[in-house]
Amino acid sequence: MILILTPDTDQQSSNYLRLIDHLNNLPSIEHRIHQERGAQQTLTEIYLIGDTHTLNLDEMSSLPCVERAVRISEEYRVLGRHKDDTRPTSFEYNGITFGQNNLNVFAGLCAVNTREHVEAMMKVLQENGQQCTRMGAYKPRTNPYSFQGFGKECLPYVFELAGKYGIKVVAMEITHESHIDEINEALEQTGNPTGVMLQIGTRNTQNFELLKIVGRQQRHPVLLKRGFGITLEESLNAAEYLASEGNSKVIFGLRGMKTNMGDPHRNFVDFAHVPVVKRLTRMPVCIDPSHSVGSRDLAPDNILDVMHVTAQGVIAGANMVLVDFHPEPKVALVDGPQALTLKELPYFLEDIRIARDAYEQRVALAKKHFN
Ligand code: PEP
Ligand code: MN
Repeated sequence: MILILTPDTDQQSSNYLRLIDHLNNLPSIEHRIHQERGAQQTLTEIYLIGDTHTLNLDEMSSLPCVERAVRISEEYRVLGRHKDDTRPTSFEYNGITFGQNNLNVFAGLCAVNTREHVEAMMKVLQENGQQCTRMGAYKPRTNPYSFQGFGKECLPYVFELAGKYGIKVVAMEITHESHIDEINEALEQTGNPTGVMLQIGTRNTQNFELLKIVGRQQRHPVLLKRGFGITLEESLNAAEYLASEGNSKVIFGLRGMKTNMGDPHRNFVDFAHVPVVKRLTRMPVCIDPSHSVGSRDLAPDNILDVMHVTAQGVIAGANMVLVDFHPEPKVALVDGPQALTLKELPYFLEDIRIARDAYEQRVALAKKHFN
């Protein structure tokens, strides 16, 4: 059961202390307090764990400070959608809204190589009205002898350039807790010119200790990629690890499954799960067409497979597109063969707009049909 408290409940108030006292005296029930500090208000939710079926919903709703009590299933307590659950399906970060009803594009470099490439990328993003990007500094590589990313060395110029070109959020994979400190230090050093979305890659989806650490910090939102060889339920539980530790600003990323059944694509594209994740949880859903397809193969209709699958995800209601671009794919240090070029950005964005319009028309049609 979740107790949703009246916004801005003061944790020192006598009513709040009475509520906690009451909860402490419930037999076989533990509680966990979850606080969400927004720009406008602070929301407090209390999760009751244990023998909650013995509790009466009306009685719990009438306790001091409680606005609403919601009975929840065991699955995905914080991030799940539960019956009569009207908690938000969106959050804001650094002026950008991330939610189940809108769409943000994160086009950028799979891996940072030179300052010039970062600048060229950000400049073209600004020219095309974009405020988000992806920039890989820490790269988890299959081969220990492959380039591992420039790490903290490149962070200051990446953040400065983001500020210069009006980029509000940079999605950046981290593979170790020390990377969070390095990112925070570089942000301080450069005067916080941008925001960072911490990305947990598919190789770390079930790195529970990393998830707990990332979940305990509430400064940055998190993009959690689906594990490439585990069930959807296992990956959604991994997202719940982040939220259970306190950070529910989580976006769930579909990036394809590792199986030869997807050949010739690098991974088996799983964007049919966009509506499934939106039904089971309150998380916005991201698609990564680049790591799903892994090439620039072209279909007979002259449309790249990467763009076909992007449209498939967007027309199904995806909320974020994470996609590899590069000014000179031939010299890219990681994943050049799947990168789109800067010249292709306006075309790519226009193609996404067509798919998004079609999605919105489909939603309107469904509404008419069900009313
Ligand atoms: C990436 O986005 O750069 C990446 C390595 O993705 P994934 O974890 O999905 O392989
Ligand atoms: Mn990559």
